[in-house]
Amino acid sequence: MRNVAPVSRVPFADLSHQWNPIATEAMAELRQLFSDSAFSLGPWVERFEQSVAGYLGTPHAIGVNSGTSALHLALIAAGIGPGDEVLLPSHTFIATAWAVLYVGATPVLCDVEEGSGTIDVADAERRLSSATKAIVPVHLYGQPADMAAVESLAQRHGLTVIEDAAQAIGATYDGRRAGTLGKFGCFSFYPAKNLGAAGEAGLVVTSDGAAAARMRALRHHAQSERYVHAELGFNYRMEGVQGLVLDHKLRLLPDWIEERKGLANAYAERLSHLPLALPRVAHKDHVFHLYVVRTPERDALRAFLQERGIETGLHYPVPLHRQPCFSALDLDRDSFPVSDRYASECLSLPLFTGMDKAQLDYVCEGVLAYYGKS
Ligand SMILES: *Cc1c(COP(=O)(O)O)cnc(C)c1O
Repeated sequence: MRNVAPVSRVPFADLSHQWNPIATEAMAELRQLFSDSAFSLGPWVERFEQSVAGYLGTPHAIGVNSGTSALHLALIAAGIGPGDEVLLPSHTFIATAWAVLYVGATPVLCDVEEGSGTIDVADAERRLSSATKAIVPVHLYGQPADMAAVESLAQRHGLTVIEDAAQAIGATYDGRRAGTLGKFGCFSFYPAKNLGAAGEAGLVVTSDGAAAARMRALRHHAQSERYVHAELGFNYRMEGVQGLVLDHKLRLLPDWIEERKGLANAYAERLSHLPLALPRVAHKDHVFHLYVVRTPERDALRAFLQERGIETGLHYPVPLHRQPCFSALDLDRDSFPVSDRYASECLSLPLFTGMDKAQLDYVCEGVLAYYGKS
């Protein structure tokens, strides 16, 4: 946290703080990339794949064009298809479910834990059937799901674990990086994520060499050799520019994560005495992609902060079991009480790389003022 002059508005995020520290070095290399025309895959993507594999501690990292594509390739490589059921939390970003639909499988929505907002594995177990083939825990807001429970369920029922780590790059769980605990780990580098590309990008990782080779081919029109297509393929290639920018930013990610934790701690210190549910770190180690508080007065608090120039977010206001696109899913829509509560009570406060102390103070003062405590 830096110390600067008083502020009168705070944006939800300011991504320039991820770009400015790498701009000089990255621009020089970008000039080279452009003159080499290394626009699609190529050496800069390969370099990033190697460095991110090293950072995560995984043998195979495959750069793709989005987190959604990463999930799609993982589900294909897991052999999931029509007739199969896949467990996933109802309280997540929609893309977790898209991938299940893309392969023609059936999403089986599960409720989430009160404390962490991540998948409630006991509820998932109740929703198992003989058709269940996989589980997709989401490391929501940057906090790993209860992976010990996920792993135990998966082993007992022969499920493939595909981690949606889109919000949690760099988080550790039991000494390992989120995304390397299951058979597959999927990441998004959408610009607003903790590690953001200069456009769209994603990554899928696995320790299974055969699955990795298949996903590498699939992202590139399923070419095992040039113009020979073994199966239905996709254009999910990562762009060279993204590999270059991500590689530079990855070097700063450990510092950025510490900074996020510091901001989260500062919020917790200032706000803990209020009638507001603060993020609970139930499963270490939370990297605070989002700082989500909960209150039944969410809408009033949000409007109050907006009036003071404080931007907030809602992650997410409509749970999957209430999405119009799932109206045909046969399920008991009242069996997700915790997801429903998250949807109506969640409020994301500003927390971003480069946020300064004055901005944090201003947000805290706004929240305290709402509760009449300023
Ligand atoms: C961002 C995100 C995705 C999708 O990533 P894209 O790169 O936008 O396709 C998937 N799941 C979760 C939980 C996300 O936050």
